[in-house]
Amino acid sequence: MTVPRILVVGGGYVGMYAALRLQRKLRRAEARITVVNYDSYMTYQPFLPEAAAGSIEPRHVVVPLRRVLSRCEILNGTILRVSLAEKIAEFRPHEGRERVLGFDYLVFSPGSISRVLPIPGLAERGIGFKTVEEAIHLRNHVLGKLDVAASSSDERLRRRALTFVFVGAGFAGIEALGELEDMVSDAVKYFHGLRRQDMRWFLIEATDRILPEVGLDMGRWTAEQLRRRGIDVRLRTRLLSAENGHIVLDDGEEFDAETLVWTAGVKPHPLVRSGDLPLDSRDRVLANEFLQIQGARFAFTGGDTAAVPDLTRPGEFCPPNAQHAVRQARRMADNILATIRSRPCKPYRHRNAGAVAALGLRKGVAQIYGRELRGIVAWLMHRSYHLSRMPTFNRKSRILADWTLALFFRREIVSLGALQRPREEFELAARTTPRKPAREPVTP
Ligand SMILES: Cc1cc2nc3c(=O)[nH]c(=O)nc-3n(C[C@H](O)[C@H](O)[C@H](O)COP(=O)(O)OP(=O)(O)OC[C@H]3O[C@@H](n4cnc5c(N)ncnc54)[C@H](O)[C@@H]3O)c2cc1C
Repeated sequence: MTVPRILVVGGGYVGMYAALRLQRKLRRAEARITVVNYDSYMTYQPFLPEAAAGSIEPRHVVVPLRRVLSRCEILNGTILRVSLAEKIAEFRPHEGRERVLGFDYLVFSPGSISRVLPIPGLAERGIGFKTVEEAIHLRNHVLGKLDVAASSSDERLRRRALTFVFVGAGFAGIEALGELEDMVSDAVKYFHGLRRQDMRWFLIEATDRILPEVGLDMGRWTAEQLRRRGIDVRLRTRLLSAENGHIVLDDGEEFDAETLVWTAGVKPHPLVRSGDLPLDSRDRVLANEFLQIQGARFAFTGGDTAAVPDLTRPGEFCPPNAQHAVRQARRMADNILATIRSRPCKPYRHRNAGAVAALGLRKGVAQIYGRELRGIVAWLMHRSYHLSRMPTFNRKSRILADWTLALFFRREIVSLGALQRPREEFELAARTTPRKPAREPVTP
């Protein structure tokens, strides 16, 4: 008898937590699990801003899939197409030949990508904030710009290097901006000739509010706090162009900036369009209340990719956040087990508990079940909540150690931007090595 295969596409929040629960609950030979993820790790995204600011070592915000999912087969590469009709997925490993993976049950959770607009210069000059690589790059880049400004007497170049623009005032944008500005304000003391006032930080938001997740009042309070820190918060403003680092806003202002971070929302991963998945007008995979993909009782979805009905708000869908992703993963795993064991599935229901965001060291904002919290209380809540959610005791301990060390030592202010050019030194050595002398003619 062949053992049925559960194929998990995407090892992020939904994929990893679903596989974790399945491997714990499945009986031997009941099913085997294959998880396909682009990277060999899951990224705990809510800690990315702290990784960018240097409060947490970047390696500690990722979870090694092979260690956590020891009973699952882990494949690294890209799923190119999923066919529900044929029950197959086309898989391309990072190296080697493509192959077809058959499945009996499917967890479809490739998450989302940044929603980018066709703004001139944006693709060339901008960077997103969704991956640990982007967080590491941004930290090195921002500190590198302080090095550039402190080493130059060209006023125009200094001003350009010290101008930082963030577009989009949701979770990711506000937290990334808050943490990085906080880090730079601390670091600038060590750069001779630079003052906090020399930096210009912009937050550009097309709508009339920031951080909608924490409610109108707390959003206003957050904008006020950011302005007090000298951040130029511009609401109802759009980025028109970023060609050659020249920023043009639709309120008439133009200036040069070396740093442009784009966090203006996400959209479902383009993989959703590759096969025969049922989609809504926003390209989300249509799910029913049991998290089954509509029309396919053996296939399940959730997280940023999916349109999952919110049973606590009839007619609406669950917002794309980690709070739902983790709970959907658990319900999905239980429903897969129920399907395998010919038992009825249960519907997914979770009332949004609210949101909590960090704005830098000892600064935060939260709205939990209607209760508004601010300052250090919200910040402590942010840290304790996410620490409790972080998978594995190993990662929890390492993050706690990072925070404890930060109490006694100042933050690191070194830019390791050269990491992206590791062969430069060796290539220089190779270029400056004298050529092998031509062989002397042998005289008889
Ligand atoms: C900076 C930041 C801060 C955030 N903070 C919070 C917060 O405080 N609270 C909160 O509730 N939410 C927060 N979120 C949102 C939350 O992280 C997401 O909602 C959650 O990660 C969605 O989970 P997911 O499983 O759908 O996608 P993901 O966790 O993104 O996982 C998708 C996985 O699929 C992989 N993948 C994609 N396509 C393929 C393919 N074709 N082949 C193979 N693998 C593929 C990806 O590499 C990725 O590993 C934050 C997000 C960001 C970016």
